[in-house]
Amino acid sequence: MSRILITSALPYINGVKHLGVLAGSMLPADVYARFQRARGHEVLYICATDEHGTPTELAAARAGEDVLSYCEAMHERQHDLGRDFGLSWDWFGRSSSPRNHRLTKHFADVLEDNGLIEERTDSLLYSLADGRFLPDRYIEGTCPVCGFRPARGDQCDNCDSLLDPVDLIDPYSVVSGSKDLEFRQTRHLYLLQSKVQEAIRSWVDSKPDWPSFARSIAHKHLNEGLIDRGITRDLSWGIPVLRRGLPRPGFETKVFYVWFDAPIEYIAATQEWADEVGADWRGWWREDAGAKEVSYVQFMGKDNVAFHTVSFPATILGSGEPWKTVDILKALNHLNWGSGKFSTSRGEGIFMDSALEIQPPDCWRWYLTANSPEHSDSTFTWGQLTSAVNRDLADVLGNFVNRIAKFCETRMEGVVPAGGEPGEIETRLFAEVSSRLAEITRQFEAIEVRKAAQAVRGLWVLGNEYLQEAAPWTAIKSDRDGAAVVVRTALNLAALMARVSAPIIPFAAEKIGQSLGESWPLSWPTADAGVELARLPPGRKVATPEVLFRKIEDGDVEAWTERFGGAA
Ligand SMILES: [Zn+2]
Repeated sequence: MSRILITSALPYINGVKHLGVLAGSMLPADVYARFQRARGHEVLYICATDEHGTPTELAAARAGEDVLSYCEAMHERQHDLGRDFGLSWDWFGRSSSPRNHRLTKHFADVLEDNGLIEERTDSLLYSLADGRFLPDRYIEGTCPVCGFRPARGDQCDNCDSLLDPVDLIDPYSVVSGSKDLEFRQTRHLYLLQSKVQEAIRSWVDSKPDWPSFARSIAHKHLNEGLIDRGITRDLSWGIPVLRRGLPRPGFETKVFYVWFDAPIEYIAATQEWADEVGADWRGWWREDAGAKEVSYVQFMGKDNVAFHTVSFPATILGSGEPWKTVDILKALNHLNWGSGKFSTSRGEGIFMDSALEIQPPDCWRWYLTANSPEHSDSTFTWGQLTSAVNRDLADVLGNFVNRIAKFCETRMEGVVPAGGEPGEIETRLFAEVSSRLAEITRQFEAIEVRKAAQAVRGLWVLGNEYLQEAAPWTAIKSDRDGAAVVVRTALNLAALMARVSAPIIPFAAEKIGQSLGESWPLSWPTADAGVELARLPPGRKVATPEVLFRKIEDGDVEAWTERFGGAA
């Protein structure tokens, strides 16, 4: 048994997340966590809301709430929606937790002790009308790269360029709209990433298991040369900038930059979990306390790769302390919305709350996994969603399970039938299922979620083909034992389908398992079909599950397109 630590990029607190965020990190992380748990490994899947930074203050102001209550309520909302989607976090923490405050200050102290943090004087934009500095998104203007307006102080929404507020053309304050701005001098802390550049490079080169995609992004940044990065901001919401627990002169109205404290929350959230359940977090994160044996897998969208391969490692490696670092880094591309992007700030796309109003979680989980933006961007279309639900789930999986369970109920007294011996057709089936099982396990193990979904679907198709060929409804007229073999084998196939589908569609898998008397959670099968298709004991009660998947009608798609827009 191995110990596997899984983190997915922390969803930002400024609103309910769209399906791109789900598909780009949280869902594949959950699929992998469920797979590894089923295999019997000790898994810890950690996530949290990322709560600091200017977008939070701005979102709270827009909602007319103070930042604390805004974050409290939105954290609950995101937590509940994640659970409704079946995300099996062991802990869903908060980057504003006391644990993260303490740990972030600890890292800042240690980095400064190691000569990796220094104070510098910056010339930053100050709003006379608002009486404050305007960091990051508190300032907007025209993008110097593409001319888009309004571009935000930290990034242009149109061309994705990373910006510095001072680059914006014709800037104004987001607080008041005032253009009465001037440069003022202020002190900030800088993390001297240039000094840890070589340490990071040799660390990156020591990770052969990273996908080339992630490695090339890391190398690109390293080859361009790491720049020293400002890690404090003129804001009130965030982690106060102290030195050895005491106020730092000149920093009374400043906090740590959100990108400094957010990844530290991976560790702090594990501490929150350990506090709650009475476990030891060190065994997961400290290499001097057993974490060397942990396999640590991170999931994130491609726009977060630089922060996970360079910035966060600069914090961790720079501390000189024996912290666990990532072993396997799974970076995904973007799920696009029509011709553009899902956008939280512009409210474009389908969001996690409204998604569940129109389809159950398994339908989304299946669609977003089978069409995962894994190795390239993918675009959401209603046609693909309809095909995933109607053809894959309803016609192939749902139909198989219902058909065999119903037949068993009406013709075999509703129990797994005894009698008969597997024949030639079953021997052939066992061989095909064995190689299919090996393939399914291999793809999940490699975190190739799209290929894993394909392989799982292949087993569903195989089951339908077997049932069609073996035709128990014909056999039963003349050969009850022969029919019993087929029904028994097909019921076992249904149970097997539930077991290998559970990481992707846990709700349906549980229902199928229940109707066959299997206890939850379902264990992972070996690749020996002869054994795995003879598991259900003859005589066990079988019930036909309620309709597993309702088909999407043309009228549904029309109504949804009207409501959400999106590509056909
Ligand atoms: Zn731009």
